[in-house]
Amino acid sequence: MSTEIKNKTDALKVTFKDGKIIVPNKVAIPFIEGDGTGPDIWKATKKVLDAALKTAYKGEKEISWIEVLAGQKAFDIKQDWLPKDTLDTVREYKVAIKGPLTTPVGGGIRSLNVALRQIFDLYACIRPIKYFDGVPAPVKNPEKVDLVIFRENTEDVYSGIEFKRDSSEAKKLIEFLKSLGHNVRPDSGIGIKPISEFGSKRLARKAFEYAVKSKKSSVTLVHKGNIMKYTEGAFCEWGYEVAKSEFRNNILTEEEVNKGSQPNGKIIVNDRIADNMFQQLLSRPEQYSVIATPNLNGDYLSDACAAQVGGLGIAPGANIGDEIAIFEATHGTAPKYANQDKVNPGSLILSGVMMFDYLGWDKASKLILDAFANTIKQKKVTYDLERLMTDATLVKTSEFADIVIQSMI
Ligand code: NAP
Repeated sequence: MSTEIKNKTDALKVTFKDGKIIVPNKVAIPFIEGDGTGPDIWKATKKVLDAALKTAYKGEKEISWIEVLAGQKAFDIKQDWLPKDTLDTVREYKVAIKGPLTTPVGGGIRSLNVALRQIFDLYACIRPIKYFDGVPAPVKNPEKVDLVIFRENTEDVYSGIEFKRDSSEAKKLIEFLKSLGHNVRPDSGIGIKPISEFGSKRLARKAFEYAVKSKKSSVTLVHKGNIMKYTEGAFCEWGYEVAKSEFRNNILTEEEVNKGSQPNGKIIVNDRIADNMFQQLLSRPEQYSVIATPNLNGDYLSDACAAQVGGLGIAPGANIGDEIAIFEATHGTAPKYANQDKVNPGSLILSGVMMFDYLGWDKASKLILDAFANTIKQKKVTYDLERLMTDATLVKTSEFADIVIQSMI
């Protein structure tokens, strides 16, 4: 087993100039293979990513992979769940990819994934949700779902402050709230969820930048502002402020369109109350394209949408800040299947596709997406999809990767 960072090189780094990413043709990317089924899906993913670069760019573009440790493997080797080395390397190279990590039980760290997001201030959790033809799905028209969710990743319940029922803090707060004219039952636990202008605006900005760059038709601000006006409602107002002050030439609000303005290819900005959004995403998902939302709404919406198109096994994700970005499988370590070459590597492979898009290596990401879709269409799938399909061929994790690679040629 490898104990140290491999192939570390000082050249080949992603850098930024005036907020724009600069990617050398031969770039070094740190990876965390992950725990449980992580090594299986990472091996398959690396193979697919390298093959796509080779096919698309004939050696002109290349990744030099740097292994960094986290999770169980890091603990076994270094007695540290998240070593400083790992953090330094990710900070230095700026773009990383990771498999799933075990959440230490009874340790000081609540979740390594949450820790990584907080340490690097990765404030946008981005989850594209798209249907691949042939994947068994629970809804009638899963192909109508084609969304990208931008979920705020640092505030709301992620920085929620809680006090236990009967604690001196809870009692003090209840007293304080009474002095402000609010009656809270004395046997209550208390939770506070902060949502700031700064945090909301930078998340909304990321969503609008993406919508402009990717020529999307709309951005929807999803909130619960009818009930929580100064947190959820304010998130929505701040989103509109960013749209109007920073993207005025690219957008029209739904209200402006309703008053007769012609969209003429502009991005329509609207907002929806979260509960309404859930039913609309089931009844007419084709009307939505990019969603920007606070943390908790985004948590529920991302998984609900992923379920609509066939589940978490193929749902990719990225956590992105101003410069640092970590691409990751959205499912957990599925430890009962560890080292069986069995599980679906789709989530991590498609996270790699997001990483290529982020690096501006679109030719390689398109190649993988087409090959991935083609493999599923051929019904050559891992156990999770095979058990739900008729006449499908069951393949192992590594075989799935090989078929995707063969489909690229
Ligand atoms: P999980 O690892 O996601 O597994 C739950 C179930 O989802 C599996 O039993 C399997 O279903 C299915 N599944 C997961 N990954 C799959 C894949 N690649 N292909 C096909 N099916 C897949 O959730 P968990 O059992 O609750 O969590 C296990 C560990 O992972 C915990 O330590 C948890 O903290 C951690 N975790 C990490 C992350 C992360 O790193 N991002 C996220 C969530 C959880 P079947 O049993 O039906 O086959």
